[in-house]
Amino acid sequence: MENSIEKLRKIIEKSTNIVFFGGAGVSTESGIPDFRGKDGLYHLKYKYPPEEILGIDFFLNNTEEFYQFYKDKMNSLEYQPSITHYKLTKLEQSGKLKAIITQNIDGLHQKAGSKNVYELHGSIMRNYCMECNHFYDAKHVFESRGVPKCKCGGIIKPDVVLYGENLDDHILLNSIKKIINADTLIVGGTSLTVSPANTLIQYFRGDNLVLINQDETPFDHIANIVIHEKIGSVFDNL
Ligand code: NAD
Ligand code: ZN
Repeated sequence: MENSIEKLRKIIEKSTNIVFFGGAGVSTESGIPDFRGKDGLYHLKYKYPPEEILGIDFFLNNTEEFYQFYKDKMNSLEYQPSITHYKLTKLEQSGKLKAIITQNIDGLHQKAGSKNVYELHGSIMRNYCMECNHFYDAKHVFESRGVPKCKCGGIIKPDVVLYGENLDDHILLNSIKKIINADTLIVGGTSLTVSPANTLIQYFRGDNLVLINQDETPFDHIANIVIHEKIGSVFDNL
């Protein structure tokens, strides 16, 4: 790992347009479980698999059960950013890191002070009434009893991209633009199995593709450097 970290340090030194693309593995060291890692939610036993519960059809047809799971498992309000979140903020402040593109919905990059964050899958921090579009914060949703309702009586939906829903065009397009212009793309803490997010890598035209993930990913073979370690210890040692 020493050697790879040394290489990564040199790459960062030389780069002027870095983009970070991350997933749930960036937040496991904050205490938030991922889906497919060894302690991930997919290994817990529920009546339904998480990808079904977190689907738009399930939300619409079984709203109460959706919210039981959602409030139990997706409430990350009390969690704090990890070393990785903070180091990325520093890298952004140095001017080298131009964007953080994340599949996470936990808001921890912003909590760490990062500004250019593209949330491909939305955020638990924003919630809207499905009838009148009134905005509600996460506290309102997580502290509600049962299905959170708007003052107009409408059901409130988290601004989270559920399975079966489309990604926001604007966020997707801007993420692609950032990747196309990057000289270095650091991909970290993602199994790279969720589509279309995982297809973003194909737009990278730069010099260095760096992949940091505990487990192997389907894209390991195209990376210049692959580090199968905890991302926090990699960033801590940079
Ligand atoms: P994933 O669960 O599919 O994969 C996470 C990957 O991170 C695994 O391959 C695992 O080996 C790796 N990992 C875990 N801890 C790590 C660490 N400390 N250092 C390095 N690697 C580590 O996650 P994904 O690819 O992001 O896709 C899951 C989907 O679920 C995303 O769409 C995301 O929206 C959602 N999700 C979000 C959160 C969150 O917001 N924190 C948490 C769980 C799931
Ligand atoms: Zn309303």
